[in-house]
Parts: sequence; C-alpha cells; structure tokens
Amino acid sequence: MKIAIIGGGPMGLAIGYYAIKKGYSVDIYEKDNVLGGMSASFDFDGDIIEKYYHFFCKTDMALFELLKDLGIYHLLKWKNTSMGFYYKQKLQPFGDPISLLKFDGLDIISKLRYGFLAFYSTKLKNWSSLDRKYAIDWLKSIIGEKAYNVLWDKLLSLKFYQYQTKVSAAWIWNRIKRVGLSRDSIFKESLGYVEGGVKTIIDALSTHLKESGVNIYLNKGVDKILIENNALKGIEVEGEIFSYDKVISTIPINILQHVITDKNIASKYKDFTYLDVMCVVIKLRKPFSRYFWININDDEIKIPGLINYSALREDIKSNIVYIPFYLPKDSELLKKDESFIKDLCKTYLKKINKDLKDEDFLAFSINIYKNAQGVYEPLYLYKLPPINVAKDFYALDTTYYYPEDRGFSESVRIAKYVVDRYL
Ligand SMILES: Cc1cc2nc3c(=O)[nH]c(=O)nc-3n(C[C@H](O)[C@H](O)[C@H](O)COP(=O)(O)OP(=O)(O)OC[C@H]3O[C@@H](n4cnc5c(N)ncnc54)[C@H](O)[C@@H]3O)c2cc1C
Repeated sequence: MKIAIIGGGPMGLAIGYYAIKKGYSVDIYEKDNVLGGMSASFDFDGDIIEKYYHFFCKTDMALFELLKDLGIYHLLKWKNTSMGFYYKQKLQPFGDPISLLKFDGLDIISKLRYGFLAFYSTKLKNWSSLDRKYAIDWLKSIIGEKAYNVLWDKLLSLKFYQYQTKVSAAWIWNRIKRVGLSRDSIFKESLGYVEGGVKTIIDALSTHLKESGVNIYLNKGVDKILIENNALKGIEVEGEIFSYDKVISTIPINILQHVITDKNIASKYKDFTYLDVMCVVIKLRKPFSRYFWININDDEIKIPGLINYSALREDIKSNIVYIPFYLPKDSELLKKDESFIKDLCKTYLKKINKDLKDEDFLAFSINIYKNAQGVYEPLYLYKLPPINVAKDFYALDTTYYYPEDRGFSESVRIAKYVVDRYL
C-alpha cells in the first residue's frame, strides 16, 4: 500500500518512520529545500544550528523512544539551566523559590501565590475544567492582578497581541507544567539538547527513511489535495497529479482551505488563527548572560523574552542569542527591512546587558516561519475537524496535540498515534 505524507517536519518524518515499520511504501513531499520545518537548521556564520532555538524537557518521552530507536539516545545531554527576568531595568534571577522571594517588584503575598501556581501546575492532572477558562482569568484568579501584570501580561500580549484574551487556561497551564517538571529538584531546572542540535535527529531520521526506500522530495510543495465525493482522488504537485492509497497532511491546517479541492471540506479549516514568528539569531563576541531563558517586562522592549542559547548548548562554542518576535498577519514589523530589525535587536540586548558594545555583535540572521503559533481557544479540540476528514485522507498539525504546546516530542507522539490508529 502506498501513502504520501505532506510536510517533512518532525511529524511527517516520524509518520514515515512508523509507517514503514508497518510495511507501507512511503513518499514524503516537502516544499522547503531542507527537512525539519520549524525544527530545521542552517549554517549560521560557521555554526550549524536551529533556525528556531530548541530545548527538551524531562517529559518528552516520545522523543526519547525515537532517539533510542535511531541509536542516538546517548547524544541527549542535560544541563542545569536557570532563568532570568528583566524587570525594573535590571536582570533578576527567577524560576526557583529563593529567586522568587528575592524578586524586586512584588509583595510577599503575590510571590507566595505565584509559587503556588508553579507547584499546583505540576501536580494538576485533570485539565478539563481549565479547558473552559481563559488563561488571563485563570492566572489572575491564582496569582492576583498585581502579579499577573508584572509577570504575565507582557508575555501574553507580546505573543498573542489581539488574540491574548482568547487563549485557553489549559494551554498556558501545560506550558508552566512542562518546564516545571523538567527539574532535578525545586531549586534546579534541567533542560536537554541533542549533541549537534535538532539536525542530528532530523538527519538520523531522514537517513533511516531513505535507506528503507522512502522517497523524500524536497522543493516539492503539494499544491492541491484532490477530494471528490468525500474521498481522496490524489495530490497535485507542479501541475502533475499523483495517486496514492492514503495521504496524510502535516502542514498547518489553516493552509488546507486553499489546497483541498472539495469546497465543503476546505471550509472546515478556515476559522483557525495562526501567528507567524520571526526569530533573530545573533552571534556575540562575549557571553550575554548566565541565564538561559530571560523573560522581559519593560515598556521599551517589545518582546516577551529571549533565549541565551549558549547557556544550554555546551557543544557550541559561539555565543548565540535568539530573539523571537511573534507576529500577527497585520504586524508592521513584517514590513520593516533587515537593518531596522537588526538595530532594534541591538538596542534591546544593549539595554539588558549594559556591557555590550556595537563591536560585540558578530553576526545576525533573521528567520521567518509562517503559521508557527496557533491561537488555542478554550475547548480547542472540539473545534478541530477530525483527523480522518475524508476517505483515505488524514490531516493534522501541531495544534492537534492541544493542550500541549508545539514540541518536537509531541509531533513524534501524535505521528505514532496516527500510524497506530489509522494505518
Ligand atoms: C520559535 C520556535 C521555538 C521552538 N522551540 C522548541 C523547543 O524548544 N522544543 C521543542 O521540542 N519544540 C520547539 N518548537 C516546536 C517544534 O519546532 C515543532 O513542534 C515541530 O517542528 C513541529 O513539527 P511538525 O512536523 O509537526 O510541523 P512543522 O515543523 O511545521 O513541519 C511542517 C512541514 O510542512 C512543510 N509544508 C508546508 N506546506 C507544505 C506543502 N504545501 N507541501 C509540502 N510541504 C509543506 C513545511 O515546510 C514544514 O517542513 C519551536 C518552534 C518554534 C517556531
């Protein structure tokens, strides 16, 4: 039986991986010139690194299984990392009980309530009641208005903009939980990476797939998915039509409204909102900070946080910082030129680390990924079209594992589920 997978990100590759184990013959179509999607890597001034920073957590079980299967589990490394918070014009330690108590900017009651949020989030198992609430209401009900304004408001507003009031509590809870559970103790955060970066995993997967006879077509975007009378007829690529027994799409589902030929089915995908992400990667002459993740609440800095990647990756010698800008489709930033973005990032970094001089900025790269971040409204799973939306056609993306946030491991987990359940 022959199947086509649309999308060569972790999910598409993992579906291919599990499908060949079941004896399927597999073709993978990827519109980009490299595999990986949001997990793709590139040559950044001599360092092969992710276009978008990646770290792993102790709960990423599906990923660990895959690494073992591929024989590269020994390359998974753990690092004790710490978090900072730029508030009141200073970079303060954050993310463990002592730092929280010392944090300048909150009263003791707010701090205790915030500590409770972090603890409670790691213990909560049944999230069904959170699925009916909005993140802002839920956060305020636990930590109070004051702590919400200091610790969360900027993070949500600079990630979701006009959609911030729509985000579900279950999604935000899950994000707090994932990092909260990736600890050696309440004082020690521990995050993971694979030596050589995510490229090591993508390369191992694609090598295995190719050796198993899978055809991987790069630079081949699927233009049309042909569906008639609720059944798959084939796919169209560069004007040619190809027939398959089954087709599985892993591309962001909001694109499907323009790709599926059956109007009725296409219309099921039109009401899903996504933001783009622009991630600026910067190489510095000296280390930026001792913190890995830095949250920011400052009226002059219009980003929710930044990632000091070198505090995680011991296999990279350069000092690398990622600045993610989440962008709604109407964002003015998307219209700005490269030099504007670079200057903006320089200003931000120099404000946070006063020792940085212009000559410390060695290299920049600006990467944009369209439809990178879904807006997860309450009861999100009930709004999604079924995975098996027409006979022999299946469609899902990173939002199908709500309330989990986008993650490499979650894409692998759902890939395995799809193969077990539908193939
Ligand atoms: C800024 C950022 C930071 C992240 N940080 C982390 C992290 O720290 N840890 C972690 O685990 N995860 C992280 N992620 C998430 C992780 O990268 C994703 O969960 C993962 O890549 C999703 O894989 P996927 O295959 O489901 O989707 P994608 O990676 O989106 O892959 C979809 C693929 O489909 C292709 N495609 C689109 N349209 C077509 C078409 N018409 N025809 C053919 N192909 C098409 C795309 O080019 C892409 O390759 C991050 C993501 C971003 C954006």
